[in-house]
Amino acid sequence: MQQTDILVIGGGIAGTATACYLAQYGHEVTLLEQRELATEASGLNAGTIWASGWGHTPDLSSTLSMGGLDIFKTLQLDLGYDIEFRQSGSMQAIQTEEQYAFAQEEVREWEVRGHQVELLAPRDARSIEPELSPRILGCLYYPHGGNANPVKTVHAVASLARQHGATMLTQHEVTGIVRLDDDTYQVVTPPATFKAKTLVLAAGPWCRSLGAMLGLHIPVYAVRGQMWATAAVPPRIFHSIGTLESHHYWRIHSHEESGSYGYEQTPLELTHRQDQRLTRHLYGRQTRDGEIIFGGDRQVDVLTLQRPCPEQAGIETNRAHVLELFPFLENLPITRTWAGWMPFTRDLHPLIGKVPFLENLYLLTGLSSSGFEKGLMSGKLLAEYIHKGEAVPILAEADPAGQVTRKSA
Ligand SMILES: Cc1cc2nc3c(=O)[nH]c(=O)nc-3n(C[C@H](O)[C@H](O)[C@H](O)COP(=O)(O)OP(=O)(O)OC[C@H]3O[C@@H](n4cnc5c(N)ncnc54)[C@H](O)[C@@H]3O)c2cc1C
Repeated sequence: MQQTDILVIGGGIAGTATACYLAQYGHEVTLLEQRELATEASGLNAGTIWASGWGHTPDLSSTLSMGGLDIFKTLQLDLGYDIEFRQSGSMQAIQTEEQYAFAQEEVREWEVRGHQVELLAPRDARSIEPELSPRILGCLYYPHGGNANPVKTVHAVASLARQHGATMLTQHEVTGIVRLDDDTYQVVTPPATFKAKTLVLAAGPWCRSLGAMLGLHIPVYAVRGQMWATAAVPPRIFHSIGTLESHHYWRIHSHEESGSYGYEQTPLELTHRQDQRLTRHLYGRQTRDGEIIFGGDRQVDVLTLQRPCPEQAGIETNRAHVLELFPFLENLPITRTWAGWMPFTRDLHPLIGKVPFLENLYLLTGLSSSGFEKGLMSGKLLAEYIHKGEAVPILAEADPAGQVTRKSA
């Protein structure tokens, strides 16, 4: 039996960041990852960042995004990790008159709340992103937006964690968790069994099954995200890019269910209800090595231990949508596709904090489709909570109490 002060389960961006900051506070931390670091969503994502500024009264979302942006900068600029971070700015293209009216409304709301999002006329948008189609009606522009390499980011944070003394164990799949009489946790993996006073569940959508091992229901859903890439080409796309179509749809249908998941309601803001498409979502960029990558679908599914397969019809719909923005891509075929599981909660709020019912049990999941952007700061805030024994008030928005319940037998 190996003893440690704190065990973190999950080697994605959430678990790695939590372990890193806990170690920085001087705690004895061991992280357990079933595969390798950053092999699930945290390494498969598009690496896009859509921060819109702190706002006059920072809420949880702006704190996680802007705090995260600062950590990306620190890694790249101060600590010498080349994570390919660039504050390129991010853009959402407007394709219809209805979307334009929605964009005007959005910008007004952002401005009132003290955020930085601009509405660009087509000419201005095309002068900073020249390949954009002349048919777009404008763009929302996020000057704090950017992008970075997801795998390199997680590995940079893991390297920092090790420097601060954390132990990062891969190929350690947690298969059992027991709360012992002495108020510690016994965590079983095939290579070894561990004992710790404090346990952090940071395993993305797998937190549901880890919670079940402790008799808890953690309401996190596996949502399949998928992407495609072209071969590497010289620089043609300079920002993180999306469209407004899905956001407009989700605003109009803001309380509509996307379907059911067993007896539960599925998360809001999906692109599909079962197999039926509701809207088209889109985001992507050109990576430093030249590949152009795009994706967007969000389909709730039954989580398996296997990586999900991309769904071809969805990839084709997404590519057709991208061609509406960037006609030059017509001549660049898709060279590879991939998919990953995103951890969604029903209302899209993350779960960060102390789990009710059991002492010294903490949770960080539900980062949904923006966990690359928000995962670093989430881990930092959770580590601070565990270290100080008190959460910063902003974490009340992500409190697992009231969300996590005891599992009925
Ligand atoms: C295709 C796609 C595109 C995306 N694009 C973006 C984007 O552009 N910008 C953005 O901000 N976000 C994006 N996201 C979302 C983002 O990737 C996720 O929100 C984020 O990575 C979640 O991080 P995590 O650490 O919570 O989960 P994960 O990355 O899933 O990490 C959880 C880890 O736990 C491990 N684990 C599970 N069970 C066990 C067990 N029993 N024992 C040990 N280890 C276990 C898993 O192997 C995994 O490594 C995208 C996601 C996908 C799939």
